[in-house]
Amino acid sequence: MSEIREFKTESKRLLELMINSIYTNKEIFLRELISNASDAIDKHHYLSLTNDKLNHVDDYQIFIEANKELRTLSIIDNGIGMTYDELINNLGTIAKSGSLDFMKDINEKSEQEKLDIIGQFGVGFYSAYMVASKVVVKTKSSFEEKGYIFSSNGTESYEITEAEGLKFGTEVTLYLRENVENENYDKYLDEYELRSLVKKYSDYIRYPIKMEVTHENPKLDSDGKPIKDEYEETTEIETLNSMTPIWKKKKNEVTDEELNEFYKQKYYDYQDPLATIFVNVEGALNYTALVYIPKKAPYDLYYDKYEKGLQLYSKGVFIMEKCKDLVPDYLRFIKGLVDSNDLSLNISREILQQTHQLEKIATNVEKKIVSRLEKMLKDERELYVDFFKNYGLNLKYGVYDKYGLKKELLQNLLLYKTVNKEEMVTLKEYVEGFVEGQENIYFASGKTKEAIMSLPQMDLIKKQGYDVLMLTDDIDEFVFGIMQEYDGKKFKSINQGDLDLLSKEEKEKIDNLATDKKTLLEKLKEILKDEVSDVVFSKRLTDSPVCLVSADGMSFEMEKVMAAMPNAKDAKADRILEINPHHKLFETIENLYNDNNVELEDYAYLLYSQALLIEGFPLKDPVEFSNKMCELMIKGAKY
Ligand code: ADP
Repeated sequence: MSEIREFKTESKRLLELMINSIYTNKEIFLRELISNASDAIDKHHYLSLTNDKLNHVDDYQIFIEANKELRTLSIIDNGIGMTYDELINNLGTIAKSGSLDFMKDINEKSEQEKLDIIGQFGVGFYSAYMVASKVVVKTKSSFEEKGYIFSSNGTESYEITEAEGLKFGTEVTLYLRENVENENYDKYLDEYELRSLVKKYSDYIRYPIKMEVTHENPKLDSDGKPIKDEYEETTEIETLNSMTPIWKKKKNEVTDEELNEFYKQKYYDYQDPLATIFVNVEGALNYTALVYIPKKAPYDLYYDKYEKGLQLYSKGVFIMEKCKDLVPDYLRFIKGLVDSNDLSLNISREILQQTHQLEKIATNVEKKIVSRLEKMLKDERELYVDFFKNYGLNLKYGVYDKYGLKKELLQNLLLYKTVNKEEMVTLKEYVEGFVEGQENIYFASGKTKEAIMSLPQMDLIKKQGYDVLMLTDDIDEFVFGIMQEYDGKKFKSINQGDLDLLSKEEKEKIDNLATDKKTLLEKLKEILKDEVSDVVFSKRLTDSPVCLVSADGMSFEMEKVMAAMPNAKDAKADRILEINPHHKLFETIENLYNDNNVELEDYAYLLYSQALLIEGFPLKDPVEFSNKMCELMIKGAKY
């Protein structure tokens, strides 16, 4: 049986892109293929522990074979192999389903964006085409009787043929490209080159990577003594890698560069990680954790399909790819692994979820990550700001999640823009910057400093010289809602509830005035009864005539966020119209009221509409608003 199949369109495009523009560093193809071979052996090993169908294997290995006459290079493993379906699914499709959307308009993206996207794919196998014009894969799965040969030049289609007599495992053979002026592909047949590539990229692979190597030895005479200047060649099979997994080495034995290299290879990133957390814990519980924070958040981080998790090893043996329980949701962006001697190897995945040890490891790892971030914030501010730009939203979510269970742990990691400062500040820094008399933490939702500074609600705050935290993410107000206070200081929205900006006497004055003008306020409330729940004299305005605020509880910002959510419930913030009794406009209102003038209704309506506009709410009836405005302008016009 033999058949020819077309590559999927996305695969073709991705392939083209990759070969032509992405990796200038062609030599990495070898580490990709070796890494696939190693994964395949891992899978075989793990399954053989739990599945009787698979034989126990003692001599797992990856073999590299270079043939100078044919100009081929083969990577041979005795791992799990691929069934017919797997062959098609795994090698016939490069772009994984989640990435297809991103591929759609790839041609319109900049080179950097392409790199970003592609850097996050597992394009491993296809990197072979950077150096090969044809690749042949012979494979036999341990679960299927038949073996198969896949062959393709990596452009339009691939061919699959049935094959008899294959041993289980996979053999990938590269037919190297013709040498060209600035690219000598022959070097990938060279023993020395291959040896150094393995050392450089794949030294830690836990299975022996073997190759036949040639030694030149002095020729011996009949007495067994070396003959001068005469040599003979002998060949032997040599293991090229040291096989110690990098995380099994002592911390002082590994360089940052090696850790970075390991990360890039294992987690398909072309950039070094933003931070590495490498811990080796010995004591009641023994484990090693090697955790990375990628520089850029994975493109699909906020998609439902995104799977968080760390790889789990037990005594150096791979157990599972994404152990969810090791990673709290808010750290879902981390990559890495945990290896523990205290977990049983035969543990099934279901049981695993409940083991006490695992829970403990997870808590410890979380603490280590948080303290690494705290240290970064303290010692490497710039890097931390970078981190926060990428992942701040996750931390905020962490504070909010589970009714604020983690707020103590995470609150000091939050950064905010403020209206007075150029740089972002922590809550601690904000509180340390309190001006005399300031007791609360003030915040405002808004996209720009200018927009916030021009709000009427800022009148008094500006005069007092208080700084105000600028909230830009949807989740921000909910986070403060959960936290309620920080360091004993209350969070106060500039347009919500009571702001406490005035002295006791000043407050009393306004309260007394309100008692005096009670009937007027009630009249206004009566006019606007369908729109607002109260009309009061403001304790936050000095220059502006009115503003709209919300009662404690649900804020306007929350209302907007909730309304934008799928299955939005009709949640409304309580609207309160605040009037500045010291503004000239109030005199007019008062006169109208005293004269029993019906125009009071129009004035009240216009005042309220203005307040709505300032808050960024739509007007119920813009035409009516405009008509009333016109009337008033005509009446008031002096010319
Ligand atoms: P990735 O390694 O990121 O999954 P690749 O394109 O390198 O992407 O490989 C695709 C899939 O092909 C692998 O996930 C694996 O299932 C399968 N595969 C590749 N090489 C081998 C191999 N040597 N043995 C068994 N399966 C393999």
